[in-house]
Amino acid sequence: MNEDKRLYYLHKMGIQAWVPKFSDTDQVVDQASESINNEVQRAVVDLEELNSKNNNAESFDGLKKIVASCTLCNLHRSRTQTVFGVGHPAADWLIIGEAPGADEDRVGEPFVGRAGQLLTNMLRAIGLAREEVFITNILKCRPPNNRDPQQNEIASCRSYLRQQIDFIQPKIILAVGRIAAQSILNTDTPIGKMRGKKYTYEDTKIPIVATYHPAYLLRSPQQKRKAWEDLKYALEVKELG
Ligand code: SF4
Repeated sequence: MNEDKRLYYLHKMGIQAWVPKFSDTDQVVDQASESINNEVQRAVVDLEELNSKNNNAESFDGLKKIVASCTLCNLHRSRTQTVFGVGHPAADWLIIGEAPGADEDRVGEPFVGRAGQLLTNMLRAIGLAREEVFITNILKCRPPNNRDPQQNEIASCRSYLRQQIDFIQPKIILAVGRIAAQSILNTDTPIGKMRGKKYTYEDTKIPIVATYHPAYLLRSPQQKRKAWEDLKYALEVKELG
């Protein structure tokens, strides 16, 4: 866990970070560090459980309304609007990206602009219309200046994604981009090593396949062939059930 996340959760739980001023042995430092880590791990679990309990929706539309007024993390201050997701609420395919960008924040829909167009074309290539799938992000609000999502933001938003998945019950999840794939699967494995493997979502049996983000493919078109292989693999995984 990085220092920012540690301090955030310590602060949320009212825990003062303690660092020994004159420790003369490594053991003292190790024990203090372990103790803080244990406190933080408990705090993370408590906060995520609290968020989840406080924001449980009874319907998909109800969830959308809850998200629209969410202030759980600081991103609510800079967003134009939340970007819940778009598509069929009972889709077989769920596409999950990282976070809204400037266009998405303005329009209120994920994957618009050039990257969105490429995603639409990639889906079409395997016979799927955009309206048939559901497209969302791990974060529902835009990080300022398109910076990477922070751990506390991902943790705050996690229960919304979980509820979306519980309502939709997709047959396959396509995680697009390193940050989406790593945060959904709670790993730091590079995206290149996650490709071509079947994972499952949390405690469900819903399969997940990872691929590159369309924005990356626009910058590195030579990788499009690999993305095409990933889509064919995802299709195969979905058909096998
Ligand atoms: S990113 Fe998620 S948790 Fe943060 S304010 Fe937006 S909806 Fe809420």
